[in-house]
Amino acid sequence: MMFSKKKITTAYTVEKCTKCGMLRKRKFAEGDVLFTESSKCTSCDGMTNIEKIFGETIEQ
Ligand SMILES: [Zn+2]
Repeated sequence: MMFSKKKITTAYTVEKCTKCGMLRKRKFAEGDVLFTESSKCTSCDGMTNIEKIFGETIEQ
């Protein structure tokens, strides 16, 4: 092996509830678009918007 270290980049999506403001980080799923409605809030009956999409690189 030429490389002893492996870099893995994982994309994450941060959802923010429009009603209670709760932030939830989850793994990026295909079809996620910034500032669009995502899923139902887990702590109230509001809807969450996609606030941020980012990648984290982990060296192994
Ligand atoms: Zn909420």
